[in-house]
Amino acid sequence: MTDLSPPKFKPYTRQSVANARQWKFMSPELQEAVEVVSRVLPFRTNEYVMDHLIDWSNIPDDPIYRLVFPHRDMLQPQEYARLRELVLYKKDETAINQLVHTIRMRMNPHPAGQMTHNVPRVNDAPLRGLQHKYKETVLFFPSAGQTCHAYCTFCFRWPQFVGMDDMKFDARETTELVSYLATHPDVTDVLITGGDPMIMNTRSLAEFIEPLLAPELAHIQNIRIGTKSVAYWPQRFVTDRDADDLMRLFEKVVASGKNLAIMGHYSHAVELRNPMAQKAVKRIVSTGATLRMQGPLIRHINEDPASWAELWTTGVRLGAIPYYMFVERDTGPSEYFSLPLARAHEIFQSAYQMVSGLSRTVRGPSMSAFPGKVVIDGVVTINGEKLFALQFLQARNPDWVRKPFFAKFDDKATWMDHLVPAFGKSKFFFDSEDDGAGHAPAGKVIPITTAQRAVAGGCGKQSDAA
Ligand code: SF4
Repeated sequence: MTDLSPPKFKPYTRQSVANARQWKFMSPELQEAVEVVSRVLPFRTNEYVMDHLIDWSNIPDDPIYRLVFPHRDMLQPQEYARLRELVLYKKDETAINQLVHTIRMRMNPHPAGQMTHNVPRVNDAPLRGLQHKYKETVLFFPSAGQTCHAYCTFCFRWPQFVGMDDMKFDARETTELVSYLATHPDVTDVLITGGDPMIMNTRSLAEFIEPLLAPELAHIQNIRIGTKSVAYWPQRFVTDRDADDLMRLFEKVVASGKNLAIMGHYSHAVELRNPMAQKAVKRIVSTGATLRMQGPLIRHINEDPASWAELWTTGVRLGAIPYYMFVERDTGPSEYFSLPLARAHEIFQSAYQMVSGLSRTVRGPSMSAFPGKVVIDGVVTINGEKLFALQFLQARNPDWVRKPFFAKFDDKATWMDHLVPAFGKSKFFFDSEDDGAGHAPAGKVIPITTAQRAVAGGCGKQSDAA
């Protein structure tokens, strides 16, 4: 008899993935890599991703396989060899834990700025689960939304998923958020992020969203939810037991007069080919909510401009809005995933040239760096000097936004702090200005260090809110 009941969410982890029917499609080398590397980096996938998004005849090169399955090249060769020996042969848990800790510490797990910047304070005490980086936007991290339907191997929130964050951005309720917002009339946007807030059931999600509809928060115009569920578990919006309740919640927000923006994280066109994924988009927009599409550019996964063009074009046809192509952040196995900024620009430009004006709402490639969100506009030559043309799309100091600036062209640079100012200058214009948020007094340089890069929400994924 055919089972017509809707599919139930079923995750696979390191402990259970060998039970999946696809496990036998993997060579012993690939199985071993999962067993070894998942000791260091978090691993979680689910039945939908395994059954519908991965083409098992094309592993390990299949983009979604690369996106969720650990690969041996994510560790340095000597690290992999030592860990493999311990995991497979010596089976010494103490030695394994020590080595795993050493490798994780090499991967820049605790960006210092994350602990000290952007966290609002009341009576000198930090507000748990909140970040306030840009004047108009507050990020909120509900405690129950700090995991995901599957984990992306590149994700900069990986320390949180392996239990390394000693100060997780998680709030158990909204009282502090509401009080903070009530006294900050400049804030117009709240981004609810994680992890992935859509991992919560509708009742829990409503407990975080409904207080934002209170009359004293009339200045909050936009409620955003950062989520990868549109790609990893679209059933959340279609067939889950409380999917209809979720649609009613979305309608309630829209009926309150606020804009509800679902910030959907998409990594590849295949994520929007499935009828379930397409239906999810249709249902979301039918509530009056908007769905914006964003995701980082990742080596091995989405280097093909045609994939981006297909993703944006399909999204627009279904009613979504292309929003950002991000540059991969420098944390975790970033050597494996990062692309030179020059190449990132080429891919973006090429994809942009393939789509109609309706898809050209997309911006990128954009770096969510410490001073703000910097987009690479192009490569130009001025007075014989080859340069990157850049600008802020969002900034700690609103005066910096849309001010063009230039950096020396560098075909190896993969992030903002690899760039050197053009025209012989010793610093960028924003290096000596007040950031407008009290983080650096006028005249003091704001250093953009590796340790200060990852200051942002989770499934927005290489982004912060802008
Ligand atoms: S990118 Fe998003 S879905 Fe992927 S692991 Fe990170 S927070 Fe989760």
